[in-house]
Amino acid sequence: MTSQRTRDRLVSRLRAEGIRNEAVLDVIRNTPRHLFVDEALASRAYEDTALPIGYNQTISQPYVVAAMTNLVVSGKPSKVLEIGTGSGYQAAILAPLVDKVYTVERIEPLAVQARQRFRKLGLRNIRASYSDGTEGLPDFAPYDAIITTAATEKIPEALLEQLSPKGGRLVIPVGGRDRQTLTLVTRNGDSYEQEQLDSVIFVPLLTGQV
Ligand code: SAH
Repeated sequence: MTSQRTRDRLVSRLRAEGIRNEAVLDVIRNTPRHLFVDEALASRAYEDTALPIGYNQTISQPYVVAAMTNLVVSGKPSKVLEIGTGSGYQAAILAPLVDKVYTVERIEPLAVQARQRFRKLGLRNIRASYSDGTEGLPDFAPYDAIITTAATEKIPEALLEQLSPKGGRLVIPVGGRDRQTLTLVTRNGDSYEQEQLDSVIFVPLLTGQV
């Protein structure tokens, strides 16, 4: 159930659902998603569905990961910040496609576990921090792209500020608890352009650390 064939089937499905970026599909094919969930769920890791990762959080659905990754990498970013490390899967998908991934998580055990996974998989260009992502990660700003994998009613000011003024892209689910709109914000100088994309469902972006 975690074989290459099972992974290939997931990639075929994503392609059929409209994901056309071959580089993104290749990384999904080569990334062992079953190592990002509990062993008891490993047999379901290549279904196109979100799965629980403990602490009331979820690993995102592969289709959503693929679509968001596509939005991020089409801006040809070098430095990317992810808010909401969770299992670490989204960061692991971004890592081979960009120079450097910064990822932050507010739940300490998740941050620790994700770091172990990155080490095990030899993903050396990911820097994982245990911190509150509503403040971004000012030490390494600006970022060519910021991807937020938790939902918010109001885009945190810090994320807008830490976006590169030269075409920086922010991908973020905006809306209430039940449903949100995936939003792409593009910054040029002091101008921020917003595009509303798909309807999505994410766990909420919360403040503080636990
Ligand atoms: N990208 C993850 C999806 C995780 S779900 C993956 O690939 O598995 C969203 C994650 O965002 C949760 O782990 C949650 O704890 C985290 N989160 C929510 N608010 C946050 C905040 N303010 N700062 C950092 N992480 C946050």
